[in-house]
Amino acid sequence: MIVLESLSKSYGRQKALDDLSLTFREGAITGLLGPNGAGKTTLLSILMGILPRDRGQVVVGGYDLDGRLEDIRRISCLVPQNLSFYSALTARENLSFFGSLCGLSGRALSERMGGAVAAASLESFLDKRVETYSGGMKRRLNLAIGLLGRPRVLYLDEPTVGVDAQSRTWILETIRRINREDGVTVVYASHYMDEVEQVADDLVILDEGRVVLEGGRDTVLAEADALILDVAGMDAILLGRVRDIGGVTATESAVIIGAGPGQASALKRVLLVLEGTEARISGLKGGSRSLEDLFLRITTRALRDE
Ligand code: ATP
Repeated sequence: MIVLESLSKSYGRQKALDDLSLTFREGAITGLLGPNGAGKTTLLSILMGILPRDRGQVVVGGYDLDGRLEDIRRISCLVPQNLSFYSALTARENLSFFGSLCGLSGRALSERMGGAVAAASLESFLDKRVETYSGGMKRRLNLAIGLLGRPRVLYLDEPTVGVDAQSRTWILETIRRINREDGVTVVYASHYMDEVEQVADDLVILDEGRVVLEGGRDTVLAEADALILDVAGMDAILLGRVRDIGGVTATESAVIIGAGPGQASALKRVLLVLEGTEARISGLKGGSRSLEDLFLRITTRALRDE
């Protein structure tokens, strides 16, 4: 459904996406995970043609971003991380305005607005100014605006930031429902492992603009049963040799040896490759089946705000 090949984007010297190749399956909910600055927002903005890329190919629903951007925008919608509506207006006025931007008017607009309002459970607040809404109601309105155009592809960028538990549950249920009932392909960018674990069919973990882990949810969670070696001092060549070993995933700070019958021999091969090199093993851990733990281990540790 969405195919990216060798996608790169830098802001000046800062690489945001680094030769990224990825596929998001049609009809699936893909959880897009990554620490601050991993490149999630940049990726979603490029997919909507909001931000230009430096290199690479992007195809969404069969349409190439080069030349078919209008078609891509017709079938897809981004619900952005920043709340994007007019606070001084009511929800009805906002929905009507954004609906008209989607080319809707008259009965079609009313029907779509009715659907979006019901989906967002905002019926009782429709004529109240949005600035009086709680954080959760604002997030729900943000999502409702995204649903107005009945997209085939929905990108959600941190849709539950700052909401209470009820609105969070509601948002997750709504996403699952539109995916199941309307077959909408969803890419769900989030920091919250537990949410992603609940809602996603597939998982992609990005770090520093690159994919560090991807696969079906259960396969990735099986990685959480892997053996993890904390390793420092691997250069690019060594990293390449370690990654060539079957069943092994590696980043600059961790080597993950997948669970399964080949695990012991893969461990032996990793140790042989590392022996006599500058690399230092500082820890070994058996899997805990926690996505959060896996995530923290395979993404680089420095605080991203520094
Ligand atoms: P977050 O979870 O914090 O939103 P993210 O995974 O969405 O992070 P991006 O916002 O895409 O990551 O940022 C990727 C990298 O690009 C970061 O290093 C960030 O500092 C940098 N970056 C993003 N936008 C700009 C910009 N407009 N100008 C300069 N650098 C930018």
